[in-house]
Amino acid sequence: MSQSLKRLKVKLRIAVVQLNPRIGHVDQTLARINSIVSRIERYRPDIVVFPEFALSGYSFHSRSHIEPYLSQPTNGPAWDICQRISKRLSCITVMGYPEIVRESSQKAYNSAIVVNANGELVFNYRKAFLYYTEEEWGCSENPAGFQTFDLPFYQKACDSDGRLYDVSLKSAIGICMDLSPYKFQAPFYDFEFSSFHSEHSTELILFPMAWLHSISATRESKNPEQQKKEIAQSQQSLGFQSHGSQGEYQLDILLNDGTCIKESPSAVTCDLPDVQVKSAFSHPAEPDLTNVDYWILRFMPLLAYRQRKNWFSGGLLATVLKKFQEIRTTYMGASLEKPWSFEHKNTVAVMCNRCGVEDGTTVYAGSSSVFKFNGKYGNFEEELDSSNRSVEVLGSLGKGYEGVLLRDVEIEVLREVDDKAIAIVPERT
Ligand code: GLN
Repeated sequence: MSQSLKRLKVKLRIAVVQLNPRIGHVDQTLARINSIVSRIERYRPDIVVFPEFALSGYSFHSRSHIEPYLSQPTNGPAWDICQRISKRLSCITVMGYPEIVRESSQKAYNSAIVVNANGELVFNYRKAFLYYTEEEWGCSENPAGFQTFDLPFYQKACDSDGRLYDVSLKSAIGICMDLSPYKFQAPFYDFEFSSFHSEHSTELILFPMAWLHSISATRESKNPEQQKKEIAQSQQSLGFQSHGSQGEYQLDILLNDGTCIKESPSAVTCDLPDVQVKSAFSHPAEPDLTNVDYWILRFMPLLAYRQRKNWFSGGLLATVLKKFQEIRTTYMGASLEKPWSFEHKNTVAVMCNRCGVEDGTTVYAGSSSVFKFNGKYGNFEEELDSSNRSVEVLGSLGKGYEGVLLRDVEIEVLREVDDKAIAIVPERT
């Protein structure tokens, strides 16, 4: 049997479901999920991603508050719905949920399951970097830190002659705060998560999130009461639901076969009291571009950057890397061998956020997006945001509505292929 190294294109259809769950309303959220899934079923997505704590809601304040929602990976409502969706759509389903280990430790985690088309558990990931509300209910950090796993796809990799192969993608889950500096205390430029995945050449990153909009009142807020009032006012003027979506969803579907569907819940006119809140929070059907740019910036090691090649002459990089005690081989994307270690690689990142408001203080940013980091333009780019040509923003949902973003993505991979195992089947149109 002969083997050869081939460049293959892995073509995947990805559905990103943005939700607005409310604590105590699991059944209502499940009903809306069913309604969203029935709208995308005919497009046969390969992967369906849901947000962090997609069914339970996010802001828990004590262990007894979260206790009724804790479950094991293969037990509980997240497992049930993921299995059902995976089998019905013949797809991979990813969903965030609050996990309990029912052994002596009784440890709780912020986790996400990955379920395959047979309804089997492929991976259970636990969040490594925690947000401060998680401390309130005694969440533990992932002892394994950031991780990768192989995610198999059948007949999804295509060579230049149009032959199709089975392929496994080196994949990862990140959960919300995993993208931020550890406890917001680590240096911003350490880029822990994206450096790890650039060094491990991760090809597909799936990101369930409950990412806060900047108008949220948090621990750091100077005048939380005033902010709460402004949030309530803007919610009212926009007719915004603090949870749910009144049965109306935002659909944003753009596929290679020419399918293009863009629907938003009926536009709301807004007359917001405060200029700052108005600009930040109005236009709920549009993404928060500041937020999208921030996520892109946190993937800095995967972005082309002209200055990179000048930085580390004279041994400075070696000194910086020593600080990481040999666990890191790159800093801000630069390695000792190559100015940009991600050059010629590519990675798709699926950012699946929630929307809505919890506790009258926590406003989620929505803006769920699909990014492709293409590993090109290393010597040219200067801006570390969506204008950088090395990141393709394939689509984003609005900040305020439940709905679904559906995109076809292509990931180029190099694989040893075995001529005898070649199976030729017609491509899906
Ligand atoms: N960095 C995130 C934020 O500011 C953390 C939230 C989370 O982990 N859910 O929104």
